[in-house]
Amino acid sequence: MDQIDPLFDALRNNDLNGVTTWMESEAWKTLLQLVQIELPDLSSSMKQLTPTVTNEQSSNWTCSECTFLNDNSNQTCEMCSLDRNPAS
Ligand SMILES: [Zn+2]
Repeated sequence: MDQIDPLFDALRNNDLNGVTTWMESEAWKTLLQLVQIELPDLSSSMKQLTPTVTNEQSSNWTCSECTFLNDNSNQTCEMCSLDRNPAS
């Protein structure tokens, strides 16, 4: 997939122009067609993979040390490893 290399280069360099330029290329259009054939309901799958933050606010907790918003499944802060409910 040599045609994809310029996209990865652009992504690595945070080169938004490079990405948009690449998305106008034949390689991207071909890839889009492939995706549509393989995954006709990609957009609905993406929605399932991406939880809506507004509905899940109560399941997150904010670290009292670094104020990072952690997922409810974490018992320690992802950023500074502080306990969720530090013993006082
Ligand atoms: Zn923290």
